Amino acid sequence: MLSIKNLQVSIDGQTILKQFNLEVKAGEIHAIMGPNGTGKSTLASVIAGRDLFQVDSGEITYEGKNLFDMAPEERAREGIFLGFQYPVEIPGVSMANFMRTAMNEKRKHFGMEPLSGAEFLKIMEQKKKLVDIHSNLTNRAVNEGFSGGEKKKNEIFQMALLDPKLAILDETDSGLDIDALKIVANGVNKLRRKDNATIVITHYQRLLEHIIPDYVHVLFDGRIVKSGDKELAKQLESKGYEWIKKEILV
Ligand code: ADP
Ligand code: MG
Repeated sequence: MLSIKNLQVSIDGQTILKQFNLEVKAGEIHAIMGPNGTGKSTLASVIAGRDLFQVDSGEITYEGKNLFDMAPEERAREGIFLGFQYPVEIPGVSMANFMRTAMNEKRKHFGMEPLSGAEFLKIMEQKKKLVDIHSNLTNRAVNEGFSGGEKKKNEIFQMALLDPKLAILDETDSGLDIDALKIVANGVNKLRRKDNATIVITHYQRLLEHIIPDYVHVLFDGRIVKSGDKELAKQLESKGYEWIKKEILV
């Protein structure tokens, strides 16, 4: 589904990612962990198509196509979803209008009729249950005045509505209490299928107690320095990142 080879990315002449490689197949959940400032959000931004970052070299293919030939909105229509680390507030745009427009853009892309208001509301009600989101939130403007936890839950709600093939969740767990964390994890688990994949970016292991990843990768100094399964996440939780730094310096 996603293949990243020898990616090098920089901003303002500073190299953030280098010699970065990752293969994600349909049906898999990959966790990317690592200290702050190592390039986790940069990776997410580059996949989604944010032009702030400069791609110096390397390639990314998504479903066999060169990702860099696709505009950000094209990537979204083709099923890439990014859950932001810092979701933005969009005053004056209601959640319902925002999501209906986004869903209908995707439908148009695949030659489908737009959803009627009634059809959309029905789907929204179903997906609201999945993330246990209150109806007054969906009546409000996108993220406006939402608490940190509500914004994060709202990312999962949007993911549920858009039904992506490849979802990237950038620290969706940060700032969540344990109940909200379980709801977010539950949402991800319920949306998991054989034909979609998820990249979970997280600083902490606790989310991975509820979302069981197939692979755990440690990002350090702009590249993946270690990969393993969920046991690696547990090791990181108990031992921190220092031992990995030592290991790669040897
Ligand atoms: P992480 O998500 O792993 O904490 P980031 O990808 O956000 O790390 O950041 C990696 C590096 O890129 C950091 O040194 C950060 O300061 C830098 N960086 C990120 N965004 C910008 C920006 N808009 N302008 C300048 N530097 C940036
Ligand atoms: Mg980040």
